[in-house]
Amino acid sequence: MYIDSHCHLNLMVKKDFDLPLKSEDFSKVSLLIENAVSAGVEKIINVGTSLVESINTVEIAKQFEQVFAVVGIHPCDAKETWKKDLGEIKKLIKDKEFNKIVGIGEIGLDFYHKPFNKQRQIDAFKAQIELALENSLPIVVHVRSAVDEVIKVLEEYALEVKGVNHCFQHERYVADAFLGWGFFLGINAPITYPKNEQFRELLKDLPIESLFLETDAPFLPPQEFRGKQNHPKYIPLIAQALADIKGIPLDDVADITTSNVESLFFI
Ligand SMILES: [Zn+2]
Repeated sequence: MYIDSHCHLNLMVKKDFDLPLKSEDFSKVSLLIENAVSAGVEKIINVGTSLVESINTVEIAKQFEQVFAVVGIHPCDAKETWKKDLGEIKKLIKDKEFNKIVGIGEIGLDFYHKPFNKQRQIDAFKAQIELALENSLPIVVHVRSAVDEVIKVLEEYALEVKGVNHCFQHERYVADAFLGWGFFLGINAPITYPKNEQFRELLKDLPIESLFLETDAPFLPPQEFRGKQNHPKYIPLIAQALADIKGIPLDDVADITTSNVESLFFI
């Protein structure tokens, strides 16, 4: 059994971001989940990126037993209204069992997509880490072109907060920092891309007990599906690539990464 530890089903079934899901979108989600389950992917952590997409995520989780919700404001969605948006997200978390909320994310820093407001991103990141701590929830961290700044923020909270660095593709010192805090690292299809030879080398040394498998669908499809929409059903392809890189049996990758995800999110 596999788990897709980071997916955006809500972004797979509609063209525009930040619109509420319509009833026909839920039938599309149903089909996506059916296909994932047929491929052995029996649980999906669906991650919010904004207030509207966090609400969509909760609605999907409530409707489908295989799906669990992570809610929060992505650094690229930290708009001027972020405090008000976070106030609404807090209301969802108040009823976290009913809403199937298992974490706060994706949160972090992104100094790649322009324009961005550095201080606002840092403020939103810290506020959401504190929200996670208040509610005993783990965090799902997004980092792009901001590793040192993320490390600086997390150092303040590192002994208390638990979480995962999703889409991990950084250098060894970054891995060491996260692993030192007991964080997990989310591994996805870029490990199948020819150009990532250096990262595959690093991956050989990273402990499987600290790794999650994720698709980040609809983004970042495996090499053979590049240019198309990614899908949680491709998790076994990522697992096979990881098994090949590490020279361990596929079953071990499936079992260990599954129990890693279950242990962080209590699912
Ligand atoms: Zn994502």
